Amino acid sequence: MSFTLAIVGRPNVGKSTLFNRLVGKRLALVDDQPGVTRDLREGEARLGDLRFTVIDTAGLEEATDESLQGRMRKLTERAVGMADACLFVIDARAGVLPSDEIFAEILRRKSAHVILAANKAEGAASDAGVIESYALGLGEPVRISAEHGEGMGDLYAALAPLV
Ligand code: GDP
Ligand code: MG
Repeated sequence: MSFTLAIVGRPNVGKSTLFNRLVGKRLALVDDQPGVTRDLREGEARLGDLRFTVIDTAGLEEATDESLQGRMRKLTERAVGMADACLFVIDARAGVLPSDEIFAEILRRKSAHVILAANKAEGAASDAGVIESYALGLGEPVRISAEHGEGMGDLYAALAPLV
């Protein structure tokens, strides 16, 4: 049976970096500049012996007539609808922003199976953000660094019971 995980969260938290690490091919563009990726992207993820489909919610970065919040909501709801579980990513260095809270609310309402990932958690600069993230009401955050490949064992442990 195949399993689908949607990576969701506001722009710039590191969703595409994580997608690329899990998929191992550069299917999703990563860039410091906004406006590079679009819509939803699917790939076959490998994490240890786990195999699953992963969806990257991109396209949030693009300037359109529609408000960013409206696009975020639509894309997230689409991805959630396609997925068995969601990995909700925050930037632990930035801490919990109001837009993170909007996402958390969408995910809580959709009552999807949500795993909280505190990304950019390499080094001590992320400690405050990790602690803040408990207040999102989505359980214990999995500390990861998508860029440096840290915390992948903890991510494995969080995903293994689901896949
Ligand atoms: P997305 O908009 O959520 O898809 O975020 P991206 O994957 O495009 O990453 C946004 C920025 O965060 C890029 O400059 C990445 O290099 C950076 N980034 C991603 N993961 C990490 C991480 O684990 N640590 C740090 N310090 N930066 C990261
Ligand atoms: Mg992206």
